[in-house]
Amino acid sequence: MTAEVRLEGIDHRFGEIRALEGIDLEIGAGEYVTLLGPSGCGKTTLLSVLGGFVTPTRGAVRIGGRDVTRVPPAKRPTTTMFQDYALFPHMSLIDNVGFGLRMAGMGRRARRARAAELLELVGLEGAGAKRPHALSGGQRQRVALARALAVEPDVLLLDEPLGALDLALRRQMQDELKAIQRRVGTTFVHVTHDQEEAMAIADRIVVMNAGRIEDEGTPSRIYRRPHSLFAARFMGETNRIAGRAGAGGIETPYGRLDRAAPAGEVVLCLRPESLRAAGAFRIGPARVRDAAFFGTHVRAHLAPEAAPEEVLVAHLPPGDPPEPGRTVDLAADPEDITIFARGA
Ligand code: ATP
Repeated sequence: MTAEVRLEGIDHRFGEIRALEGIDLEIGAGEYVTLLGPSGCGKTTLLSVLGGFVTPTRGAVRIGGRDVTRVPPAKRPTTTMFQDYALFPHMSLIDNVGFGLRMAGMGRRARRARAAELLELVGLEGAGAKRPHALSGGQRQRVALARALAVEPDVLLLDEPLGALDLALRRQMQDELKAIQRRVGTTFVHVTHDQEEAMAIADRIVVMNAGRIEDEGTPSRIYRRPHSLFAARFMGETNRIAGRAGAGGIETPYGRLDRAAPAGEVVLCLRPESLRAAGAFRIGPARVRDAAFFGTHVRAHLAPEAAPEEVLVAHLPPGDPPEPGRTVDLAADPEDITIFARGA
């Protein structure tokens, strides 16, 4: 089951703290959305507003067209999966997964059949008789997912669901979560502060900062064409170059950039992988400060001769890293540069 979600003009205060301000968001039925942002930006509060654990100070929550702003969690078509999984240690996996169905009054036989189907969906077929303590972290996470999906919510809310897993398992579970979501078609809203996780998993990323939405869109759009400097920096490493926009283009420490922008002080954002040996925007020779081999690229810090007090990060082609002190020619394609008004 699945449904679309609409958040309209949501504000929330905890006493003096403004946790959410002016949140308007539409999520399509069957979409996988991640809420991404630094600690304290309001992600969990927004998820709690969706799940019914927090009633917003202002605004409305609609799920499947129905106003649920004041509907308690158990009566909403949502299920929330918390980071600690909260499995019942004394119950078998089949009973853990069937718990919500039992609460809903489903008979034992039907419940066990449905729970077995869900354990199969998450790759734990035949493990129904086990207890949670006999499982690895990744397996517990799968049981929690099966239990959350057993009650067929329209919307599944996931709060840092992979936070307790080590990096390799996290990456594997990201792929699995996405594949399972595709199979069941339920709307997923997933909170994370990990930018790579958001990119790996989401149809759409919502970047939050200080209780507001800074940007929302596909991972590639936000990475390549962020709508704010904050979103640019949160989505990955970026070089910032100061400039002044005028009628003839943008003056920078490296010469003129042939791009139009409203007149005034600007900041140019340039991803490390956009720095190349050749391109229409020439930065010129730059001295290597340090460089390290990363498999797919060499990550180097470089001091450009035209502005030696600046340090640029570049992803150079893979190979032996250049020795510190060596000079490398740097340039970029003007279209790979994102321009923001200074202070925006
Ligand atoms: P994290 O990634 O650390 O969980 P977050 O982005 O999920 O952070 P929230 O937990 O939503 O952020 O918190 C948003 C703001 O609201 C923070 O300033 C936080 O201190 C505050 N806050 C959250 N819950 C409460 C509460 N129950 N009472 C008072 N203040 C709260």
